[in-house]
Amino acid sequence: MADVETVVVGAGVIGLAIAAALAREGREVIVLERHDRIGSETSSRNSEVIHAGLYYVPGSLRAKLCLAGKDMLYRFCAENGVPYRRCGKLLVATRQSEVERLEAIAANADKNGVEGMRRLSAEEAKSLEPEVTCVAAYLSETTGVIDSHNLMVALEGHLSACGGQVVLNSTVTGIAGPDAGDDGDFRLTILSAGEASQLTARSLVLAAGLGATGLGRMLDYPSDYRVPQTYFARGHYFSLSGRAPFSHLIYPMPDGAWLGVHLTLDVAGRAKFGPDIEWVDSVSYEFHDPDGARRSSFEREVRRYWPGLPDGALQPDYVGVRPKIYRQGEPVADFAIHGPQAHGIDRLVALYGMESPGLTSSLAIGDLVAGMLR
Ligand SMILES: Cc1cc2nc3c(=O)[nH]c(=O)nc-3n(C[C@H](O)[C@H](O)[C@H](O)COP(=O)(O)OP(=O)(O)OC[C@H]3O[C@@H](n4cnc5c(N)ncnc54)[C@H](O)[C@@H]3O)c2cc1C
Repeated sequence: MADVETVVVGAGVIGLAIAAALAREGREVIVLERHDRIGSETSSRNSEVIHAGLYYVPGSLRAKLCLAGKDMLYRFCAENGVPYRRCGKLLVATRQSEVERLEAIAANADKNGVEGMRRLSAEEAKSLEPEVTCVAAYLSETTGVIDSHNLMVALEGHLSACGGQVVLNSTVTGIAGPDAGDDGDFRLTILSAGEASQLTARSLVLAAGLGATGLGRMLDYPSDYRVPQTYFARGHYFSLSGRAPFSHLIYPMPDGAWLGVHLTLDVAGRAKFGPDIEWVDSVSYEFHDPDGARRSSFEREVRRYWPGLPDGALQPDYVGVRPKIYRQGEPVADFAIHGPQAHGIDRLVALYGMESPGLTSSLAIGDLVAGMLR
């Protein structure tokens, strides 16, 4: 018999949401996390926006899980005392040439079933946000912000209330598939405080974010299934020193899959700008702006919609890294949530390319994965 019924690798927001969903169904669940805290990678290095679902391809997992996840998240926050604000966002066209794109995004949002989209003239946008300059805008009323750390603490609370557990400082360094085990269980090698140990699990979920591909490749697959390659795209954030003269999030027109240097507010109303996009070969969270060129580029981008940004008001803040499963210039990939149908191994679900809107979608992903393992 396996040591544990289900192991989830990764205590980011998605791993925790999956673990909580499984534990609520009465499963025995352990989450293994290599760091000494939950959510210390992508889940704490993002924009903390509850996305409405405007941009994603209709019918894609990203569109479906974002819309379902958004409603679940608002409900979960209200019921569990997780700080959030349904502040709304202004999507702005700053030039006449961008209006066509603005309308295309609104039409896409409509196809996705996004509610609460309101077309605004330049004057109407100005009356909502006097500091913003644009030629046209949409107000997305269902967009909001969340305290992602508190969300993860609440999810861990649900997990432990149902008998589950997060085990920190535990790096999974080896996985042998069911065929190699005596009872058809997964056998994990775990490194903890320099000591290696073994753990067997009946079911396995890989929710390892930036580390997902390395783990997925440890298994032997019965078919010609190929584990998606993860590529990394860094995003820098600058915070605004001083009070933000905004009550909504402000987003310019996206550039391909990149949403542009947008303004977001945290739940306390502090403003930050970003993320930019920089494709890199390896993961690093170092804020890089040796000659101030990055700050100048941010100032230029922000002043397109906020000409009044004071000189010197942007302060380097933090960096997040997107786990992408397509290369720069390739078509944007959907979330890859692979169960036995995709890879041929029973009782295994592996998640790749869980970039935005993964935070918004987390609770819906939890339910989806629990269903795949039922
Ligand atoms: C710049 C940026 C901005 C974003 N903005 C938003 C936004 O505004 N709204 C939104 O909805 N989404 C946003 N996202 C996406 C969202 O942050 C992610 O989808 C989500 O946080 C992914 O959660 P996760 O649990 O899959 O990954 P992670 O948070 O990365 O968690 C994975 C965990 O697995 C652990 N791990 C990895 N390998 C191992 C191993 N071998 N052994 C043990 N543990 C291991 C890691 O330490 C990590 O803690 C953004 C992402 C980025 C990068």
